[in-house]
Amino acid sequence: MSLTAHELRVLDLVAHGYTHEEIARQLFTTPKGITPTVNRAMRKLGAANAPHAVFLACQAGLLDGRPRRHGDHAGFAAHRYRGEEPCEACWEGERAYRRGRKAARKAAREATEAHAA
Ligand SMILES: [Zn+2]
Repeated sequence: MSLTAHELRVLDLVAHGYTHEEIARQLFTTPKGITPTVNRAMRKLGAANAPHAVFLACQAGLLDGRPRRHGDHAGFAAHRYRGEEPCEACWEGERAYRRGRKAARKAAREATEAHAA
């Protein structure tokens, strides 16, 4: 029995240490909705508990077992690449990245203008 995209998504967030409450916030649902999803994923994988489910999913190649960085532009891009809504930490990092880029463009423009004057 294969896992649905939603079940995989939830399991991926479990694998990254998020609580059910945090997962629910990220997926715009309630924590009550997360528990049955995790239980369903565990049943499908034949896992005894959530960590076991994460391990089995990694072993089966369903989850990327490599550590994933959150909270910067790369993390944000990874969410987008996977068709996910970026998590709060990644949104924060992306906003800081965009602010930095904007400031750099402004500084470059001002430097050019100062040179021309
Ligand atoms: Zn993230």
